[in-house]
Amino acid sequence: MDTYVYAIPLRTRFRGIDVREGLLWEGPAGWAEWSPFLDYSGAELVPWLRAAREAAERPWPAPVRDRVPVNVTVPVVGPDQAHAIVTGSGCRTAKVKVADPRTVLAEDIARLEAVRDALGPAGRLRIDANGAWDVDTARRNLAELARFDLEYAEQPCPDVEDLAALRRHLAHDGIDVPIAADESIRRSGDPERVVALEAADVAVLKVQPLGGVAACLELAERLGLPVVVSSALETSVGLAAGLALAAALPELPYACGLNTSRLLVDDVVDEPLAAVDGWMEVRRPVPTPTRLAALAADPATAGKWARRREATGRLAG
Ligand SMILES: [Mg+2]
Repeated sequence: MDTYVYAIPLRTRFRGIDVREGLLWEGPAGWAEWSPFLDYSGAELVPWLRAAREAAERPWPAPVRDRVPVNVTVPVVGPDQAHAIVTGSGCRTAKVKVADPRTVLAEDIARLEAVRDALGPAGRLRIDANGAWDVDTARRNLAELARFDLEYAEQPCPDVEDLAALRRHLAHDGIDVPIAADESIRRSGDPERVVALEAADVAVLKVQPLGGVAACLELAERLGLPVVVSSALETSVGLAAGLALAAALPELPYACGLNTSRLLVDDVVDEPLAAVDGWMEVRRPVPTPTRLAALAADPATAGKWARRREATGRLAG
């Protein structure tokens, strides 16, 4: 089996990385991407490998839709730039990153004002705090930010117990901001605790860390929560798996976070998966040999990934 290790720079630093790396190969069912972030290790890598094996070896569940609505993501930038990003995207839903440790709430408010202005009152606006707030801070900040008519707040606190406490406080305070769980679903090792503790109104699912499209579809059914499918910053090979999940979900009430191919400076396919007017077409593009060669990682990086894959294969059985 030929495997290809890619190394593609990001347009802007994200999750503390400047270059995205991963492994690609083609199996009987199609192309697979295995690209766990480098801060994942050991048994945590196994579901990522299961997802890639599924892509290579088995057909994905049948789609029930041929296009998927997606959000534009607004990073921690000033209000003018935030406005321009949303206006230029064509998307009707924006996800705004907030609670960056280098900023204060007034900067988040200025960014949200600009984004709400760019979207208009009918556009949907969600925030993602990546678990930065404790319960009291989240309670106070969401009371303040609720005036932007938030679709939901994603992972305002780090722990699932905190999310549950926050949800009770917000209900008590009469603050109508639904809570979405992201990290609590994919990294806690026990996604169903989110439901058991009534910690969230929405579940964010990512195909690679949760073990594949079929596994996510089953998890969605068990959770019984509305699902938002998000990427793990993959090439179009990995994004196609996210699209397959979004296409197969019985209900899709929210825009998905799959429009991330342009965060990379290049892609392994000629026509990357990318939104037009806020929608992504459900398809599965195939890498081209010239792009695979041009975006190949150096031999040391390729060796690192081969060893990582071998070690994970042993754990996965
Ligand atoms: Mg998130």
